[in-house]
Amino acid sequence: MCPKSKGTFYITTPIYYVNDVPHIGHAYTTVAADVLVRFKRLEGYQAFFLTGTDEHGQKVEKAAQERGVDPKVHCDEMVKRFQSLWRRLNISNDDFIRTTEDRHKKVVQKILQDLYDRGEIYQASYEGWYCIPCERFWTEKDLTEGKCPDCLREVVEISEKNYFFRMSQYQSWLIDHIEKNDRFILPPSRRNEILGFLQNPLEDLCISRPKKRLKWGIEIPFDPDYVTYVWFDALINYVSGIGYSSDNPRFSDFWPEAIHLIGKDILTTHTVYWPTMLRGIGLTPPKMVFAHGWWTVEGKKMSKSLQNVVEPNRLIDTYGVDALRYFLMREVPFGMDGDFSHATMVHRINSDLANDLGNLFSRALSMVIRYFDGIIPVPSSLQEIDLRLQESSAKVIAQLPGQMNDLAFNKALITLWEIVSASNKYVDETAPWSLAKEEKDRPRLATVLYQTLEALRIIALLLAPFMPTTAEKMWTHLGMESNLWEQNLEADGNWGGLKPGGKIVKPTPLFPRIDTTKMEKKI
Ligand SMILES: [Zn+2]
Repeated sequence: MCPKSKGTFYITTPIYYVNDVPHIGHAYTTVAADVLVRFKRLEGYQAFFLTGTDEHGQKVEKAAQERGVDPKVHCDEMVKRFQSLWRRLNISNDDFIRTTEDRHKKVVQKILQDLYDRGEIYQASYEGWYCIPCERFWTEKDLTEGKCPDCLREVVEISEKNYFFRMSQYQSWLIDHIEKNDRFILPPSRRNEILGFLQNPLEDLCISRPKKRLKWGIEIPFDPDYVTYVWFDALINYVSGIGYSSDNPRFSDFWPEAIHLIGKDILTTHTVYWPTMLRGIGLTPPKMVFAHGWWTVEGKKMSKSLQNVVEPNRLIDTYGVDALRYFLMREVPFGMDGDFSHATMVHRINSDLANDLGNLFSRALSMVIRYFDGIIPVPSSLQEIDLRLQESSAKVIAQLPGQMNDLAFNKALITLWEIVSASNKYVDETAPWSLAKEEKDRPRLATVLYQTLEALRIIALLLAPFMPTTAEKMWTHLGMESNLWEQNLEADGNWGGLKPGGKIVKPTPLFPRIDTTKMEKKI
């Protein structure tokens, strides 16, 4: 750990299924993780952000077969869609793990062997029902009218030998763990859902698939006729990605400080399978699993055709990266379901970004250019109104860390906008354009503009995790020479970090106003 560090912080997204076309839901989880990790770095934490792709299983094997290519070649091509989207979205992940990499496969096999050696895995005959698209077994009582309870498709009857992990023995331990750690599963509605699920007997987990049915997977180390069940394989990425059994110092820096961000559809695997698997190998469960909600589009459930309209690359082309990041974090409380509509997106951009933030920025910088040749003026004695602006900034800085710890991104942005509003009000009330008329008011004009620019510097600092490109643009236009990404909230959040004498860069609009009628035609 580096000596200046406040501690360690580890955040993950699910590893996305490599066959999927990246959609707004993938973008949502990944942007949320990125915002949080950037904020933690700003706070001084030594942070690690892991994302990646889940590349094994029947659907990948089948898609590759249909294209007549090797499954690995298929994955190598498909993974690029995620990697290029994350680059476009400015995702600052420290690593990208693919389950087909040797570093991951080795850890999966080591864990399987350890569990087997200790009698945590046994072989038994399995009789029941199997859903091929979901790659899941179901017992008779699980079925919904004879069909897969998850996807409502036909299931096939199956009888075969498989390997099982003794998950059932950890049921009471797991209930106890969830009850004692009220932030292990969030939001609370999801925690209650899992506690409800655990009122029924927990079964052992089938962790193998016979090769005669599926070849594309990680071979079971003690039986070459089988490969590993995709979920058992995939979940292990959270520890293989930070050096479990290969880099112990790094692993112990970050585990169990992990926060797993997931969609609510994969809650059971992450809060039942995963903690019991960890328990089986003697590791503590992650600190938090946070399940966010789903997006509908224009009030409707996402469908193939609608997905097309909100494909993340297309949204970036239309609105820009930062506007999209802002919308996703601002519009809906994290954990709730949300609705994407172009009308609300345009409204957010025009009101919050173009009007409130953008105008403040160009107004302030233009006045410094006009009245002080672009040189940041020296402030003189402060009046009450100046101190009020400083106080509102200090108040916001005090509130943000707690809101971010609760993953209340929308609240944090609402709080941050309090400085934007306070600054707009400050400019209106101090009326620098009137002060500019009289030579005797020069010192007061200098103070007012300095205070406004300093508020903008702090806004840029706090905005950086949410809107990295915009924040950088603001930072350099304010003549800041230090690296925005090396700032520290505690030290650099203090009032007065802006140096008089620095040179302002002539501003271009941060967010041009969107013409609603033109935009409707474009969409
Ligand atoms: Zn199914």
